[in-house]
Amino acid sequence: MNGVHSLIRGVRRVTPALGRAVHSGTSASYSVASRAKHEERSLTSEEVYAREDRYGAHNYHPLPVALERGEGVHLWDVEGRRYFDFLSAYSAVNQGHCHPKIIAALTAQASRLTLTSRAFYNDVLGAYEQFISTLFGYDKVLPMNTGVEGGETACKLARKWAYTVKGVPKYEAKIIFADGNFWGRTMAAISSSTDPSSYDGFGPFMPGFELVPYNDIPALEKALQDPNVAAFMVEPIQGEAGVVVPDPGYLTKVRELCTKHSVLFIADEVQTGLARTGRRLAVDHEAVRPDIVVLGKALSGGVYPVSAVLCDDDVMLTIKPGEHGSTYGGNPLACRVSIAALEVLEEENLAENAERMGQILRAELDKLPREVVSAVRGKGLLNAIVIRETEDYDAWKVCLRLRDNGLLAKPTHGDIIRFAPPLVIKEDEVRECADIISRSIMSF
Ligand code: PLP
Repeated sequence: MNGVHSLIRGVRRVTPALGRAVHSGTSASYSVASRAKHEERSLTSEEVYAREDRYGAHNYHPLPVALERGEGVHLWDVEGRRYFDFLSAYSAVNQGHCHPKIIAALTAQASRLTLTSRAFYNDVLGAYEQFISTLFGYDKVLPMNTGVEGGETACKLARKWAYTVKGVPKYEAKIIFADGNFWGRTMAAISSSTDPSSYDGFGPFMPGFELVPYNDIPALEKALQDPNVAAFMVEPIQGEAGVVVPDPGYLTKVRELCTKHSVLFIADEVQTGLARTGRRLAVDHEAVRPDIVVLGKALSGGVYPVSAVLCDDDVMLTIKPGEHGSTYGGNPLACRVSIAALEVLEEENLAENAERMGQILRAELDKLPREVVSAVRGKGLLNAIVIRETEDYDAWKVCLRLRDNGLLAKPTHGDIIRFAPPLVIKEDEVRECADIISRSIMSF
C-alpha cells in the first residue's frame, strides 16, 4: 500500500524493462518538508508511460506523449512542451480544454451538492431537463453518463416502443445498424460492430441486431420491409470508422423511409453532435428530425461523463419507473456542467466557427501531395486524411512526426488520421496547424 502510494506521487522510479518500482528512499523517515518536495517532483514522460504500462490494463495503445495540462486548443506535456490538440478527446472537448465557464459551474456545484441518486428529487435536474429538451426541440430527456449508455438507452426505448406501440410480437424486435458503426464497448455495442477488434473473442452476441451497408438507401429500404424492425440507429457521419461522410440526401432518405415503415430513426450524435460538424447537430445539415437523438462527449465539455437521450413522449414514456436508470445519471453536478457546456456552444457560436474553420482546414489539407494523402474528407471540424502507406511511412509514423512538430492526432484503422481540434480554434491557429501538418508530411 505504502509502495503504491509513493509510486503515484513519483517518489519511486519505474524501470521500464522490468516494470518494477525501485526505491529512492525510505518513506518512513521522510520529514514533512522532504515529502512535500517529493510530491512536487513530476515524472518524466518515460516514467509516465512505464507506470501506466505496469499497472494499467493494456486496452489502449496511446501515442507516446504524457500530458499534464490543457487550456483552450493547447495541451502541455510533463516536460512543458506545448501541443495543438487535434483529437479533442474524440470530440469531447469541443469547448476547449478547461473552459472557464464550465470549470466554474463544476466547482460551484461540487461544493454544494454532487449526487443524490434518482431516489429523490434535486433542484438542478429539472432545470437541466427543461433547458436541454427546449434547446433541441424534444419533449423529454433521459440523462445517462457515457455515450455507450446513451446508445443502450436508445435501444431499450426502441424495443419497448416496438412492443407497446408498434405491436411487434414480444421479444422479436429488431434494430438495424450500419456497417462500420461504432457506439462503444458494451456487449450490446460490440454485438452490432463489424470491426473484429471490437467483437472478436467476446461472443455470444446480442440477438435482434441486423446490419446494412452505410450510405446505402436501397439496402435500408429492403431491411425495413420486415414488420418487426423497431429502429435504425446510425451516425450522421461515421466518426470511428474514419470520418465517413454519407452522400448528400442520405439522412433525408433515412427519415423518409423510417416514417414510411413506422421505424424509429435513432441518430447517434455522440461524436457528430454539439457543433462539431458545423451545425448544432449533424442532422441539421439536412434539416431532418430523428425520433431519438443520443448525445454524449461534449455535453460536458470534457470535464465529466454526461450523456443524454432525447425524444418525444410517445417513445420516452414507454419506459416506466424502475425499468431503466443509473446511479449517477442526472446528478446535480453533471446537470450544472452540462448546462454550462451547452451555453458555451451557443454563446461562442461554436457551430459557425467549426463550419468556417473546417472549410479553411480542408482547403489547406487539399494542397497536400496526393502520392502521400489519398483523400481528405469531413464536415466542420470533424475531418480526416487517408495516408497512402509505404515502407517509409504510415499513419502512426506521421502522427509521431506531427507530435514532434507540436500537434497531437491519432490514427484510426491504420491509415486514417482524424483532425478534430477544439471548436474554439482561431483562423491563424488553423493556418499554423495546417503548416505543421504539411511540413510533417513533406518531411517523409
Ligand atoms: N457513439 C459514437 C458515435 C461514438 O463515437 C462513441 C465513442 O467514441 C460512443 C457512442 C461511445 O461513447 P463513450 O465512449 O462515451 O461510451
